[in-house]
Amino acid sequence: MTRKVFNFSPGPALIPEPVLRQAADEMLDWQGTGMSVMEVSHRGKDFMALHARAIADLRELLAIPPNYKVLFMQGGALAENAIVPLNLMGDAGQADYLLTGQWSLKSAREAARYGQVNIVADAAGAAGADAPGAKGAYTHIPEQSVWKLSREAAYLHLCTSETIEGVEFQRDPIVGLGEHEVSPDVPIVADMSSHILSRVIDVSRYGCLYGGAQKNIGPAGLTFVIVREDLIGRAHRLCPSAFNYQVVADNDSMFNTPPTFGIYLAGLVFEWLKAQGGVAAIEAINIEKARMLYDAIDGSGLYQNRVSRTDRSRMNVTFFLRDERLNEAFLADAREAGLMNLKGHRVVGGMRASIYNAMPIEGVRALVAFMRDFEQRRG
Ligand SMILES: *Cc1c(COP(=O)(O)O)cnc(C)c1O
Repeated sequence: MTRKVFNFSPGPALIPEPVLRQAADEMLDWQGTGMSVMEVSHRGKDFMALHARAIADLRELLAIPPNYKVLFMQGGALAENAIVPLNLMGDAGQADYLLTGQWSLKSAREAARYGQVNIVADAAGAAGADAPGAKGAYTHIPEQSVWKLSREAAYLHLCTSETIEGVEFQRDPIVGLGEHEVSPDVPIVADMSSHILSRVIDVSRYGCLYGGAQKNIGPAGLTFVIVREDLIGRAHRLCPSAFNYQVVADNDSMFNTPPTFGIYLAGLVFEWLKAQGGVAAIEAINIEKARMLYDAIDGSGLYQNRVSRTDRSRMNVTFFLRDERLNEAFLADAREAGLMNLKGHRVVGGMRASIYNAMPIEGVRALVAFMRDFEQRRG
């Protein structure tokens, strides 16, 4: 039995089939315990071993340096929008935010409840995201040379993969003492929800990486935080203990009951990824999948992508039908062909194919074939 459809959902998103199969096989009896993994103590030795292995695998996959802690938390990436300033703003009371799309915009707005937010650049233009029509305006990442970085900021926040618009950083920001470089004294905090583990990154350029699991790691409800040790321990006194990086780190992510099933499934995804050859190997496949889809879009008279070519996302491919009256027919015919959840985010409109790590290349091939066929019939 194989799955009947290809699911292009932006999140919660598809999970590798072998992972779901293994989870199904062990559902009623995990490792001979006679219980499901959901039913065992998070402090029991079996689960503790699973937890340690998941962290070790994530460390290996991302080549996380030893002076970083890996925390598994809850509350989604949006809760991190508050947890980050509560933990990292410290005495500076201010932080820099780069606006490149809806997610970084949300992050900046939430952070402004806790301190001063400096906008280093707004990709929606001078008018900003509140201008009429600006909602579709996030189509590029401003060059680092135009960022207005402040020396006093406790950190610089980025969203390196804007899931809604399909805009993605193609390289890590440049850290250094040069004029346009991010000062090593201002740690970079990045929301990597939708492209973590999809490409090789240099973790040492960042002070803190975080995100929700439900795009590229596992089920919703689990979040990951990878934070440099020297940034831990500056939390505001009103920061809830369960969200205090220090408390969570000191308790090995077990200050309170962690999302055990999510950690279990994430662990299986990490094992699956290692079996694929690791992040560099999956990145090569991701490059090929994205190339196939963008080539199909660029080579057609019906489809159009509006993101600046150098900033196009490999994970979330957004496109529009030049004749928007065909949108409903496109989606209905796609569903008929087993190609699910292609509708774009309501803020942007159009279409979006999320092709995370778990999307097999056959899924992209099927989508490209469908798009060509639809264009021939209806375009
Ligand atoms: C999905 C997503 C979020 C929101 O995550 P929640 O788990 O719903 O809080 C935030 N940032 C990015 C980049 C995302 O893709």
